[in-house]
This record gives sequence, C-alpha cells and structure tokens, in this order.
Amino acid sequence: MIDRQEVIRYLGYKGHIPTQDVLDLIEVCIKEVEAAAEPKHVVRRFPARVTDSSVAAGGLSLHSRQLARNLKDCKEVIFFAATLGIGVDRLLHKYLKLQVSKAVVVQAVAAAAMETYCNQCQLEIEKACAKEGLFVRPRYSPGYGDLSLKVQNEFLQVLQAQKTVGIVLTEGDIMLPEKSVTAIMGLSSVKTGCHREGCEICSNTGCAYRRAK
Ligand code: SF4
Repeated sequence: MIDRQEVIRYLGYKGHIPTQDVLDLIEVCIKEVEAAAEPKHVVRRFPARVTDSSVAAGGLSLHSRQLARNLKDCKEVIFFAATLGIGVDRLLHKYLKLQVSKAVVVQAVAAAAMETYCNQCQLEIEKACAKEGLFVRPRYSPGYGDLSLKVQNEFLQVLQAQKTVGIVLTEGDIMLPEKSVTAIMGLSSVKTGCHREGCEICSNTGCAYRRAK
C-alpha cells in the first residue's frame, strides 16, 4: 500500500495540502505505477567484523565510521537490493516526453512505492531474524554519509544483482532500473527498538548506534 502522505512529502508540500486536482492525479499515478511495477529483491547474509571505522563482510571492506557506528555490536549483516523493475522507468520516461507535470507525480509515487516495498521486505527479514533472537538495524545504503557510492559495483556483484533481480550499474554509477535500492542491515542480539524507516525519524536520540547525519 503506497503511503499517500509520503507521495505528498516527495512532491515537496511542506505541511500544505495539495489541491483536489493534484490528489486525483496522485491516485491515477498510483494505479499506473502499481500496474507497471514488478518488485523484486535479493538478500544475502554474512558474518561481519566491525571496527571503529570499517566493516568487513561478504568479501568487502567497507570504510565508513558512520556505518560502523550503526553496526556496532552486530556479528552479522544482511546485504539487500530491491527494484520496482524496468516497467516503472518506461512509465516515467513516457510521461517525461508527453506530460512533464504527470512525470513529476509518477516520480514521487515511484519513490514512495520503493520505500514501501523496502519496508515490507525488511519486515519479513525482521520476523525471520526474531525467531533467532536477532534484531535488525535500519537500512544503510552505499553513498549515504561517509560510505562511498564507489562500493556499489562490488556490492551488486556480491548479490549477483543483475542475475537475481535485474539491477545493473551505468558508467556513472547509476542503478538501472532507476527505482532500485541497495542497503546493508546489521543483525544484533542487542535490542535497539529500531525504526524500520531509519535513525532520521527515530526518537531515541541518545542511541549509541544512531547513524550520524
Ligand atoms: S537511533 Fe533509533 S533507528 Fe537508529 S540505531 Fe538507534 S534505535 Fe535504531
């Protein structure tokens, strides 16, 4: 279920209510995005070695103090990639040519749909891990904070993302399909009461694992 409030937020309405015409257009675009989307995801789980400034997992050495802080006390991580599929890209590019105002709304709807799908996937992972007494930390993506986007290529290779979910990387390090997400999630026996949506909206401001802005 695509969150209408998230769509409105992505459209930049800071506290303002869109007109009925815009709300109607959002509903039309939601139907079109849902019809075009073929969501897929892939996960792999690896043991992790976390220091103050790096994380070694899945054969990768990830240099990032902020990721290391978020994964403090995690002995394992999950590598995750998800995509809405190429149909949503086609829809977006169609409206970029035909009706730019609709393309803007399709873009916002697709972003919200991607977030919803990632949250659903994470919920499934959380339920499975809870059976082992493990808690899942918020998603942390390559390119976020001090984790270089340059790790994206190796990260996708570890997940065999082209074969498993059809995600490829352009020379400019852009993922195709465009509505795709990669992320690392820490697994820990330490309960943090994490928000699936991430540290940004979590009220636990004193949390030792909170990722820095
Ligand atoms: S700040 Fe909140 S979401 Fe972030 S690690 Fe701590 S408990 Fe989890």
